[in-house]
Amino acid sequence: MFKGVLIEGSRGDQKVSLTSIEESELPEGDVTVDIAFSTLNYKDALAITGKSPIVKQYPMIPGIDFAGTVSSSTHADFKAGDPVVLNGWGVGEKHWGGLAEKARVSGDWLIPLPKAFSPRQAMAIGTAGYTAMLCVMALEKNGVTPDSGDILVTGATGGVGSIAVALLAKRGYSVTAVTGRSEEADYLKSLGAGNILDRAELSEPGKPLVRETWAGAIDVAGGQVLANVCAGMKYRGVVAACGLAAGMDFPSTVAPFILRGVTLCGVDSVMAPKAERLEAWKRLSEDLDIDLLERMITEIPFEDAIEGASQLLEGKVRGRIVVPVAGRTETS
Ligand code: NDP
Repeated sequence: MFKGVLIEGSRGDQKVSLTSIEESELPEGDVTVDIAFSTLNYKDALAITGKSPIVKQYPMIPGIDFAGTVSSSTHADFKAGDPVVLNGWGVGEKHWGGLAEKARVSGDWLIPLPKAFSPRQAMAIGTAGYTAMLCVMALEKNGVTPDSGDILVTGATGGVGSIAVALLAKRGYSVTAVTGRSEEADYLKSLGAGNILDRAELSEPGKPLVRETWAGAIDVAGGQVLANVCAGMKYRGVVAACGLAAGMDFPSTVAPFILRGVTLCGVDSVMAPKAERLEAWKRLSEDLDIDLLERMITEIPFEDAIEGASQLLEGKVRGRIVVPVAGRTETS
């Protein structure tokens, strides 16, 4: 038996509990992992609360990330005892995920735990941090440099936002952090933000084009916020869009794209090719200041993961939630 968060029932009528599960019920896969740490991402919170149709089949163990040690493997790249990390690939959505003591997955989805990080730190980074790095790489691949001008980061106190601010500042970019939580200004400045912008300034419908302000942007909000971000980009500015915290819609015009040559890069972490993941994790090893990462962490007991999901969606969590899952065998 192993302990895991289990979502049972059906869409619109689901029940979530922390329970004991037979190891024989683990899904197919060529690598079995003893999980040490998992985390709560925005998507995990949507899955656990049922607020969006993240779970594609029931029953499901949520958790799109985990870090742990291989316990058995028939995959050529991994053997028992190897420390590994998993991000995405539909795990926690259509394949049992990381909020459990054990997982069985395809070895093709795993990457070796980077030497720079402990399993706990890897989960403090998690999909949120790896996505923040993919966004930074998207800006760079499209020609944005620290000399290009200010970079805007939305949802800055959240997981993707906090890590994006820290990564950009470390590389010498001037960062403006957008937040709905003005009381967190000192936190954002400690991560490296030069300026703070009230989220309300970007939340209302605006003009198709406004003053050219941002050389680059990392947006986790979508909706009206993303439309206003695009409207305020400099000539040939680049926006990396990865989230929908403000909404799924995109009430923009083509003006920023055809009159200012703005580039809108979509960033998806779930199915990103392995080479890009390895590059992102290598860059995280080089660019992420561990002391700043520690400042972003809230560690919650496994027993509180279900409640933590609601708190995350209510905007009560700053930075990243880490969930230690190892060494628990009893049902609660
Ligand atoms: P968090 O909950 O940690 O952070 C989201 C932040 O968004 C909040 O902290 C808040 O920051 C801000 N926010 C909340 N509501 C609104 C709103 N109405 N308008 C504008 N900003 C808002 O989530 P994550 O950082 O983990 O994820 C952020 C987004 O990125 C999510 O939509 C998630 O699904 C997406 N995502 C996408 C990935 C991909 O592969 N494309 C991978 C990872 C995440 P503040 O209070 O500072 O304003």
